[in-house]
Amino acid sequence: MAQRLPIVLFALVMAVLPFVPGIPPFWIVLLDNIGLAALVAMGLVILTGVGGLTSFGQAAFCGFGAYTTAILTTSYGLSPWLSLPAALVVSGIAAVVLGLMTVRLSGHYLPLGTIAWGISLFYLFSKLELTGRNDGISSIPPLAIGTFEMRNPNTIYFAIWLAVVVAALITVNLLDSRMGRAIRALRRGHIAAESFGVQTAQAKLLVFIYAAVLAGLSGWLYAHFQRAVNPTPFGPQAGIEYLFVAVLGGAGYVWGAVLGAGIVTVLKEILQSYLPLLFKNETQFEIVVFGVLLVALLQLAPNGLWPRLLALLPLTPRGQQPQPAAALPAREIDTASTGPLLTIDKARKQFGGVLAVNDVSFEVGRREIVALIGPNGAGKSTTFNLVTGVLTTTSGRVSILGQDTTDTPPQQVVRLGVARTFQHVKLVPDMTVLENVAIGAHLRGHAGAIASMLRLDRADEAKLLAEAARQIARVGLTDQMHQLAGSLSLGQQRIVEIARALCADPVLLLLDEPAAGLRHKEKQQLAELLRQLRDGGMSVLLVEHDMGFVMNLAQRIVVLDFGTKIAEGTPETIRTNPDVIRAYLGGTA
Ligand code: ADP
Ligand code: MG
Repeated sequence: MAQRLPIVLFALVMAVLPFVPGIPPFWIVLLDNIGLAALVAMGLVILTGVGGLTSFGQAAFCGFGAYTTAILTTSYGLSPWLSLPAALVVSGIAAVVLGLMTVRLSGHYLPLGTIAWGISLFYLFSKLELTGRNDGISSIPPLAIGTFEMRNPNTIYFAIWLAVVVAALITVNLLDSRMGRAIRALRRGHIAAESFGVQTAQAKLLVFIYAAVLAGLSGWLYAHFQRAVNPTPFGPQAGIEYLFVAVLGGAGYVWGAVLGAGIVTVLKEILQSYLPLLFKNETQFEIVVFGVLLVALLQLAPNGLWPRLLALLPLTPRGQQPQPAAALPAREIDTASTGPLLTIDKARKQFGGVLAVNDVSFEVGRREIVALIGPNGAGKSTTFNLVTGVLTTTSGRVSILGQDTTDTPPQQVVRLGVARTFQHVKLVPDMTVLENVAIGAHLRGHAGAIASMLRLDRADEAKLLAEAARQIARVGLTDQMHQLAGSLSLGQQRIVEIARALCADPVLLLLDEPAAGLRHKEKQQLAELLRQLRDGGMSVLLVEHDMGFVMNLAQRIVVLDFGTKIAEGTPETIRTNPDVIRAYLGGTA
């Protein structure tokens, strides 16, 4: 609720604003334009700021929305209210088509791809007979409720700002959910999210469609505001401006979109009205000044102006809050079968000339703690990646609970009950510990994006957060639950990763150097926790360099050197094994 209170206040302010006596009519026009830009920028907040997918092409989706309603209302006489769903669907379908082609691009190719289709669609709008070529389409009917027509800026104002408020609500709801966490995890690489079952390609497409539909809504409103459309406002320059609006406001913050839209729209207006007087209409100086001002603002606030503004307020953003909720159903463990939990059979992984894992075979049984040790570069982390499906094997087989999982994608492996942590911590630093840990329970929740937007996911969501809180308590981090993950020490972040893995309700836990960075007492607590987990029926495969920790904890140890297994046995036999001493333990063990 706390997150919705500002929206309610904001809605009230915007609702009374036009009735303030003496407010210049021209301010209302500006506010209309701000609202239209804010809608597009809000989509970019999710797409670019949260999801990490930079798009210069959002203006084209406004074009789909605007032209759809323009054509349907002028050529086919459809009511604008009936053309609204059509405009949104057309924008959404365009996003699916372009998204499928674009979101798989990575690095610089993705923004370049969006520029490319931004330009192509602009030319398409200007060349097609259907869209009226360069002249566009005019005589678009106004929005009307009964006989009340929204013909002037004062009346369509309400439609525009209602749309902004509703979009803000839906966007906040979406971010504050199971799918929202999956989207927020995208920016930090895919591997961690996928290891907990997130279908990252789908999540990207989802934000792509969402952003496009918001842009389409803006386009629909624009068409009935201007009552005419032509290609210019949907071209590449507008696309760049929308991205500017989002980045300046603070990509990643829903309200940053509104703030950014306000600043850019007002700035442009001021420059366009006053600079020509100053420079006696000498070419378009305002564009140059506008650019310089934007760069200066970004220098002042690289993360956008909204977080700057928030920092001035006495608020402590605390993220999602757990509520009491029924427990999630636990995984049913097949106690009858006795075979090994994990079997690695001659697994091999070659990276070009490097043989990282060389025909390694070993097993992990039920209720067993097995350690995988060896010098740096021995192939331990690569073995984890082969087991969890992050990497595909060059040859050999992996099976879990008797089921062949060789080259199974990570999202499937975790379903079988294998959860992991990473040697290089992979948390989302600007999400709280609770929110990060809840990603671990992704597959145990069911609410989809639409349910989340409409807030129909609360029962499901409460269970996920309660489970996350429970696992955080189990690893002893309750006091840090509402801190941002990035603010914790590296050792604590590793423990957060263990809590996240436990949220998946695993039968096998893979821990890659969990004790690195922990103090002596914390290591003892970790060892105690792992013993408890084993006694509770879980198996653990861990990579660790602290030999005291490993020897006290593991029942069995597998030693790798240069990708090859050189020994396997109980801690006592490993400690005295001459090959192991030569390769790894040296004289210290
Ligand atoms: P460990 O975890 O035992 O320290 P790794 O499994 O990380 O070792 O690495 C084993 C070997 O494989 C190293 O020589 C490393 O440089 C190489 N390696 C690991 N990942 C990659 C990769 N993605 N591409 C190329 N080489 C890699
Ligand atoms: Mg490693």
